[in-house]
Amino acid sequence: MLVILAVLVGVGMWQTGGKRAGRGFLVLSHEPQGIMGTTCTISTVVLQGGEEIAGRAISEAENTLRKMELLMSSWLSSSEISRFNIAGAGIQIELAPESMKVLRHAHSAFEKSGGAFDVTIGPLIRLWRQGAERNLLPSEEEISDARTSSNWDQIELNPTGALKKVEGTQVDLGGITKGFAIDLAVEVMEETSIEGGLVDVGGDIRVFGTPHHGQLWKVDIRDPSGDGIIKSIGIRSGAVCTSGDYSRFYEIEGRRFSHIIDPRTGWPAAVTASVTVYAETALDGDIWATTLSVLGIEGLKMLPQGMEAMLIVKKDDGYSLLSTPGFRELFLVEGFEDTDRE
Ligand code: AMP
Ligand code: MG
Repeated sequence: MLVILAVLVGVGMWQTGGKRAGRGFLVLSHEPQGIMGTTCTISTVVLQGGEEIAGRAISEAENTLRKMELLMSSWLSSSEISRFNIAGAGIQIELAPESMKVLRHAHSAFEKSGGAFDVTIGPLIRLWRQGAERNLLPSEEEISDARTSSNWDQIELNPTGALKKVEGTQVDLGGITKGFAIDLAVEVMEETSIEGGLVDVGGDIRVFGTPHHGQLWKVDIRDPSGDGIIKSIGIRSGAVCTSGDYSRFYEIEGRRFSHIIDPRTGWPAAVTASVTVYAETALDGDIWATTLSVLGIEGLKMLPQGMEAMLIVKKDDGYSLLSTPGFRELFLVEGFEDTDRE
């Protein structure tokens, strides 16, 4: 499931006391299991003797991630988003302020992306998931019916909750919850007195403060055709999020389909093998990695200011790599030593 491999130089498990990061700092990390169905690393940089503060920062960050999953996962039937999904038309479901925030961000992303980022594709996700379970491609009629049910006009967002206007409307927050939860986890870590930190959920990463090693946080971007690394980038702060079709996909009738749906056709997106976005927040990075997976190169025109992206586009004979000039500035030279840029 790991999309980006964050190579954490000098990281030790916090339970075992951590390792020296040089410069008088200690790096303490933890890999909580079972968060959002994927891998997770929470890492802290503290001054010598800061084990207790690090432990507290890590456990608060972990609790935050778990809380957001409990609210918004559509895999958990007890989540409030699942309650919204099974509710009948006209019934308001009261939602936590965090879920309301995510829904409002999702709506604004829908508008900014010209409809490419659309959390109302719940019925289409369900259809393709069923297709994979039955090993049977959905029919055009089924796709068209599910597309009709996938529509923001059928959802009313009120101050404390949401209601659907017609039966069958469902939302899927799988393309936004990770980013939102990572930002909240980083916020709680920043409130402690640790020197720096990193939160990585399934390859969506945000960092802040003093890095583990050297002047920059190093993030390795995976080669979609294998287990190797295609590029390494160095950042001082912010988020790096990747959407790839090689770690999560539907397999139907011998063909592999992306888990990202193009809302314009109802079919899985097929242009990119992976998209990596650099943004100030993991929320924006998560949203735009998914969006550019739908839109491909054309979507770069819509990428909001301050964000950078790298697309690995599928070709008949392999892949081609395309990135914004600002993203290229983040590349590190091979055999990277500290701050060497390419
Ligand atoms: P990510 O791996 O962050 O790109 O998110 C992919 C997940 O987002 C999928 O597993 C779905 O839950 C959801 N998703 C799929 N297609 C879209 C889309 N066009 N807009 C918003 N969310 C989507
Ligand atoms: Mg995403």
